[in-house]
Amino acid sequence: MLEIYHTQDGTRIAFRLYRRARKNLILRIETAHVLSISVPPRFSMQSLQTWLRANEAVVLRYWRKAQQMPSAQTWLGLPEKLWYQGVLYPIRRDGCIQSIQWCMHQGFAVPENHHADADYQAAAALHVWLKQAAQASLLPRLHAWADNLALTPAGVGLSSAKTFWGVCRARTGIRLNWRLIGAPDWVVDYVCIHELCHLPHPNHSLAFWALVRTHTPHVDAAKDWLKTHGPDLFQLDAVVISKR
Ligand SMILES: [Zn+2]
Repeated sequence: MLEIYHTQDGTRIAFRLYRRARKNLILRIETAHVLSISVPPRFSMQSLQTWLRANEAVVLRYWRKAQQMPSAQTWLGLPEKLWYQGVLYPIRRDGCIQSIQWCMHQGFAVPENHHADADYQAAAALHVWLKQAAQASLLPRLHAWADNLALTPAGVGLSSAKTFWGVCRARTGIRLNWRLIGAPDWVVDYVCIHELCHLPHPNHSLAFWALVRTHTPHVDAAKDWLKTHGPDLFQLDAVVISKR
């Protein structure tokens, strides 16, 4: 029996639900008009609704991709391009390398192999590579802004959240979404400043925004960038989720 999911923008997505003895939820394209979702044996319909709502951008992307592909059981391949530090770089395959390489003018090169799972392996390796790059670049940036603003969070770290770019709590400190590694520096700076300014102002009051604006002139442009390109920063998730 087909289930129907209604997205917030009114798209009607048909999917078939499979219960499988595994821990993860797996989204696949079944046919041009049906997605398949495998869930753990006792996963409730309410949890599924919550998951679909939280991952709506990914689900919609699969749905649109499905409609371009008449064949069944295809999966979303490796994207052709990937955001990294505000630049959309091409991804090419290279038979001469063993691990991911990034080069300023050429973009990403991934090892070429001929396993059936080659694309998936490349996507998973890119995912790991970007997370490491996020660790190496986003956290020092946040520390530098904390020094600059003379505001000290209780702790700093990265998050894998689906719904926010940063979060600031008095007790635990600031978490930045690792996917910000895809965004330009001035957008990352805005998110760092935004979260740090929540230390004196744990709200979105006029005083909060006034403080944010004293430290960056890019508030509106950064919000626009995230609104326009933010969903693209989750692009690799779609690939990795699909085979996990
Ligand atoms: Zn905020």
